[in-house]
Amino acid sequence: MESPTLSQDSLDHLTDSEKDFWRRAPSKIVTEQAAVNFDLREGKELVLRRPRQGVPTVHLHSCPTVINTVHRESAWEGVWAARHSGKPGPAMQLPEMPTMMSVAEVEKLESYTACNRCSPPVQQVKKRRQFPTTPTKLSSLAPKHIDREFMTLDGEPVGKLQSYTVHREGVTLSFHGIEIVGAFTDQIIVMPETAAVRMAA
Ligand SMILES: [Zn+2]
Repeated sequence: MESPTLSQDSLDHLTDSEKDFWRRAPSKIVTEQAAVNFDLREGKELVLRRPRQGVPTVHLHSCPTVINTVHRESAWEGVWAARHSGKPGPAMQLPEMPTMMSVAEVEKLESYTACNRCSPPVQQVKKRRQFPTTPTKLSSLAPKHIDREFMTLDGEPVGKLQSYTVHREGVTLSFHGIEIVGAFTDQIIVMPETAAVRMAA
């Protein structure tokens, strides 16, 4: 990295382990960029971004949304900038590597959304899991549904149902980190047991 931010002066205020971390950055950037370039040469020209929950988004490797992960120097500069922004956060965090895939690999995914900014050459704009499922009305929820995997009608997986509460206007469903509140007539999809096993695999 030729960035002046990595001069000896700029390292002075860091702890010894941070200095170590940043002194290793230039060689890491070279190694990481070589790995990314190798993937590109192999035809893995798409970048997949996976949210913590939900459907991954597919981008061209040149999309502004992901370019900062594809260019490893930019990725490291982003971490450096975050470290010096004054915001709390880990002092030494390896920048995220892009998940590179070919078009064929993306098409094998059960679900994805194509970025509408870069329009990658994939078959569908929104590919969703296809299960032989009938939506369930919230009024039909029962104790047997606890611990089953659910997804919304849009095909967003929401995880296992922890508990649900029936109140006057409807039902509140609690999943790990997510609550869904709906009317009794709203619908949700209880995934088949086999699909749940496949997802966990
Ligand atoms: Zn994009």
